[in-house]
Amino acid sequence: MVTLDGDEAGRIHRAKLAEYLEGKGVKTRTYELPEGFDIADRLVEKYAKAGCGCRQCQQMRSRAA
Ligand SMILES: [Zn+2]
Repeated sequence: MVTLDGDEAGRIHRAKLAEYLEGKGVKTRTYELPEGFDIADRLVEKYAKAGCGCRQCQQMRSRAA
């Protein structure tokens, strides 16, 4: 798995990397992240929504509120 940020650079490199890997016979699947997000944000968001009590998740919930 390769993770790239949810911004213009991330989009460009995601497309290039997928194209390169497909060219090597590697099956790829790409996911778009919301603008300005990176994979760490997505993971924290997932745990925050599940009710995790760690500081990071509490901050995520208070930002979303
Ligand atoms: Zn947490």
